[in-house]
Formats: sequence, structure tokens, C-alpha cells
Amino acid sequence: MKPVIALVGRPNVGKSTLFNRLTKSRDAIVADFAGLTRDRHYGQGRQGKHEYIVIDTGGFEPDASKGIFKEMARQTQQAVAEADVVIFVLDARAGLAGQDHEIANYLRRLGKPTVLVANKAEGMKDGSQLSEFYELGLGEVVPVSAAHGQGVRSLVDLALGLLNLPEPVEDEAFGDEDQKPVRLAVAGRPNAGKSTLINTWLGEERLVAFDMPGTTRDAITVPFERNGQKFELIDTAGLRRKGKVFEAIEKFSVVKTLQAIEGANVVLLLIDATQGVTDQDAHIAGYILESGRSVVLAINKWDAVDDYQRQMLERSIETRLSFLKFAPLHFISAQKRQGLEPLWKSIIQAHRAATCKMPTPVLTRVLLEALQFQTPKKVGAYRPKMRYAHQGGMNPPIIVIHGNSLEHVTDAYKRFLEGRFRKEFNLVGTPLRIEMKTSH
Ligand code: GDP
Ligand code: GDP
Repeated sequence: MKPVIALVGRPNVGKSTLFNRLTKSRDAIVADFAGLTRDRHYGQGRQGKHEYIVIDTGGFEPDASKGIFKEMARQTQQAVAEADVVIFVLDARAGLAGQDHEIANYLRRLGKPTVLVANKAEGMKDGSQLSEFYELGLGEVVPVSAAHGQGVRSLVDLALGLLNLPEPVEDEAFGDEDQKPVRLAVAGRPNAGKSTLINTWLGEERLVAFDMPGTTRDAITVPFERNGQKFELIDTAGLRRKGKVFEAIEKFSVVKTLQAIEGANVVLLLIDATQGVTDQDAHIAGYILESGRSVVLAINKWDAVDDYQRQMLERSIETRLSFLKFAPLHFISAQKRQGLEPLWKSIIQAHRAATCKMPTPVLTRVLLEALQFQTPKKVGAYRPKMRYAHQGGMNPPIIVIHGNSLEHVTDAYKRFLEGRFRKEFNLVGTPLRIEMKTSH
């Protein structure tokens, strides 16, 4: 499971600037998707082989006029409690403030691995300005400049270094995926019907569940086999296995949802038909997309809504989840066991799509056919010239197109190409990334 870093500190010290630095590499993946709702408090990043989750507690700022510890928003406390390591951000230019002491007291009591950071330290050659921060009794102070990107890499190294993380096992980019179980996470808001669905599944005769305790940090999975296909069900936010059944025993946790999504190949996003598509649903959907995981959408409790509600729902899926157009959509009733069979088909299809192998000759043929059908527009003096395409990765699949002046290819044209590739390889349920590589 990915380690979780929480950023804390009083307002204006530069937490969100640092957050953007720490999560930048991953943002590029979703830049193309219009209409994506994102909660800017949670993000993902990578340094070298290590991936991590970052929480910016900035938006949860308590009323500064009251004591920070008492008033520290519940969410901030939850975020810090769920973090593996805390980065406490200070302002090297403003120096120590009263609130810093209160936060320090809180963190000391918590006893979590903590890194003290003095931000805005660009141009401060000697460490003399930082000496007062040692008063906080939290040890070493690391000078960084979030705005200029200075010291950020070593900060991440230091923070992750406190955790004794195991060497990450690289996903073999083009390994034999057929033999591996499909790791499945069922995500959704509390009460969407996740435990009902899972328990319905686990009670089915065609499904053989094995008992196997979880190994890695807190992650519990239930392996099972269905019609010869191996699966691993991942414990999701608020869902824990109790004996033979799953129960929703915890309150919703974004971090656990994120970790479950990260650990999955396919995420089944369950939406409560009686509630419509809520902000929280859209956020979870955004995380799934950001993670590059395959996704299958299931609208549950279809039995409990009338025709009017059904129409409204279909419309809100269209508008609020427009960035998940590639995801298969099912209307089900977990309780009445309706519509469950086709879900399996979509889950398997979505997994295949994510790990699909796309040979260069086929990709190039599809590209050239698309070009014949419609050439990209000339922009100024330039007309983009695409020559060939190859697969740059999977999970999610990446298609790299080579040619000249490709920076002038419009988003509309990329979407047109995406449609062509999706059709050829039957890429259902997986995000697809198209990258342009211009040779000059
Ligand atoms: P937050 O309230 O803690 O999230 O702080 P922000 O990230 O919004 O930053 C507050 C202000 O500090 C903004 O005007 C930033 O541009 C500025 N800032 C952030 N990082 C740096 C830095 O490394 N150096 C300088 N000089 N200013 C910074
Ligand atoms: P979880 O919090 O996502 O695990 O949700 P639960 O599985 O505990 O379900 C929440 C409530 O919705 C329970 O009262 C279930 O009986 C009910 N429920 C679950 N699935 C359905 C369904 O398909 N139709 C209807 N009408 N109710 C359902």
C-alpha cells in the first residue's frame, strides 16, 4: 500500500504550493479529461520507484482566532491520524508564530514520524534564520522552497526514509497478466450497498472464496474464483470482513478509498440510485481516473426508484461523470439480485482492456486509416504529421504517436483518435492515454 503523507501548518506557509509540487507528476495524466471534479486536498505523487499519497490539510483550516488544537477540524485530525508521516510546514520568512507551537504540541503528543520544513527558504544561504524553529522540539528543520522547487526531492526522500518502506515490486510492464488474479475493489459512499453486493456475491455457489489473512499493512483481500477466473477482492473504505461477511464498520475514509483503488486492477464504483450522483461520488470517480485504473459503474438500488428518478439519474451520470464515458454502466439491485451477472462480464472486460497488448503494426495501421479518414487541421504554418504509433505502457494503456509538429494536434483530434483505437482493441472500462512525440 502506498504511504500517506499529510501536510500540516498554519495558513499561508505554502502547503498548497508544496502539495502541487508533490503531486505534479501525476496531474499530467488527467489533464486531458474535461469535466473532472477533483478534490484538491488529496493527490498522488511519485519519486523514483516510490509512489505516495499526499493530503493537504490546508482547506480544512480551523478558525485561527481559536485554539488550533481544540478547533482543529475533525477532518484534519482524521487526515493526520491516517498519515504514515507528517510534514509540518513553517514559514522561513515569517518565523515562528503562536499557532506553530500549538501544532507542534499536537504533533508531539501524536508521536507520528514528522518532518519539519521551513518553506520559502530560497536565497537563504546560511541556516541562521532557521535556528528558532528548533525551539519546537521536533528535531531537524529542512529548508525548502516550494515555489521554486528547491529541496523538495530531498524532503520526499527524507519523509519516505522514515518509514522503512519495502522495495516496491515493479509491475512487469508486459508480463503475463492472464495468470494473475483480477484485483477488484468495490468503492462507493457509505450506504451505497457495497456490503450487500459483496455478501450476495460471496454467498453465490459459483463463487469459491478462500480464507487467507491479509499480509501487507492493513490490506485485507479475499481471494475467490468464479467460473475459472481468479479474483481478489480488496477491502475498501469502511468495509471490513467480519467472519464470513463484509460489514461497513468504519466511517468513510478518503485515504482508505484511495489505497483500495490504487491496489486494484478494476474498481467497481457503486452509486446509490436513491441519492443520485453526489459530489462524493464524483470525487471518488476522479480518484479512480487519476489512478489510471479500470472502472465499471453500477447504479444500485434500481429497484427503489421510479421512472422520473431514473431519468434524472441518467442525466446526472451524463453530466457529472462525463469523464467516465469509457466505463461500462449497469443498473442493478444488490438486494434483489438483479442485473448482477453482466457485471462480471464488464469487470473481466475492463481488466483485459487495461492490460491489452497493442502491436505496433496494428496501432500504426489504425493511425494511418484514421489519418485517411480525417487529417489533422493545419495550425498557422504547421500541419501535424503523424508517422507511426507504439504502445508505451499498460494499466492504463498508453499509445505513443511519433511524428512532427505534434504539439499542434488539437484535443478534438486526439479524442477522435482515441475513439478509433478504443474501437479497434475493444478498450472498454479503461482510461487510455495518447502521447505525442515530436522529432525535430
Ligand atoms: P497555504 O495556505 O499554506 O496552502 O499556502 P499557499 O501554498 O497558498 O502559499 C501562501 C503564499 O506563499 C502564496 O502567496 C505563495 O505564492 C507563497 N509561497 C509558497 N511557497 C513559497 C516559497 O517557496 N517561496 C516564497 N517566497 N513564497 C512562497
Ligand atoms: P454499504 O455502506 O455501502 O456497505 O451499504 P450496505 O450494503 O450496508 O447497504 C445500505 C442499505 O441499503 C442497507 O439497508 C441495504 O439493505 C440497502 N440496500 C443495499 N442494496 C440495495 C438494493 O439493491 N435495493 C434496495 N432497495 N436497498 C438496498
